[in-house]
Amino acid sequence: MNNSVRRDPDAVYKRAVPAGGAPVRSRLRRLDAWWVNGPAYAVRSAARCTAALLLPVECVCCKRPDAVVCGPCARAMRTACLHPRRVEHRAEALPVDGRHVPMPVIAAGSYEHELAAVVLAYKNHQMPGLVGLLVPPMARAVKSALDTLAAPGVPVVLVPVPTRLQARKRRGYFPVGLLLGRLRRAGVLPERVLVARLVRYRAARQFTSAQKGKGRRARGAVRNSMCARRTRSLSRLAARGAQVLFVDDVLTTGSTLAEAHRALEGAGLRVCGAVVLAATPAPDEKRDVRPAR
Ligand SMILES: [Zn+2]
Repeated sequence: MNNSVRRDPDAVYKRAVPAGGAPVRSRLRRLDAWWVNGPAYAVRSAARCTAALLLPVECVCCKRPDAVVCGPCARAMRTACLHPRRVEHRAEALPVDGRHVPMPVIAAGSYEHELAAVVLAYKNHQMPGLVGLLVPPMARAVKSALDTLAAPGVPVVLVPVPTRLQARKRRGYFPVGLLLGRLRRAGVLPERVLVARLVRYRAARQFTSAQKGKGRRARGAVRNSMCARRTRSLSRLAARGAQVLFVDDVLTTGSTLAEAHRALEGAGLRVCGAVVLAATPAPDEKRDVRPAR
């Protein structure tokens, strides 16, 4: 093996590429081969340059022109997300067990610098195309949670924390659901891992009067705003002794995760923790603002 070639740290989270010299078996692989060769690349570059003239874009992190996320920022984000970490100590509203130990949460990175800019653009600035950049960090965090939080040999259900219907209508897509869909299609999840939307927000008319007149953030923390979807798959998973790993985008106080946890109580599923893309840093962990490159 040639040690001088730097390995791509995200390689294990991408679809396997056939070994060199392997015959191209399917039409899709032939299309892939055509897509990455010289002439097709040149045509794509020309089209990209024309598009940049007609519809100018700039990097969501550093405002450099011609790319939604420029190369240096994408590299910096990947580097910041190489080592998923436990972050439950940063959120004070997480549910606690009988021994007052908070629910374990693993984050792909800290909600700062490039990761914060990309997550914000993906969630709130109508840029679902950025999902491809967020798949490897999320895959790494999910793998870490499966290795350290979930009991071996038992089915694990990845449950996306829902968003309100209003927010979903405004965006036109469900960021966490889209991310999990891409993760599943990338083929990096083990066989025992399933993805299921088991929790939903109650309809607005079911909200209690206590929630009326409060801001969005305050309402999010109010109990009883979510409930479990009583589907056949829920009872089937409970019968198999499945464990639940919640998946969310950003961890701040942990109140949304606590509410999702409460909604699943009594459904017969054991919650083993949560995975998030980014966690807001604790006050003593905040570092200085990175100087502009
Ligand atoms: Zn940039």
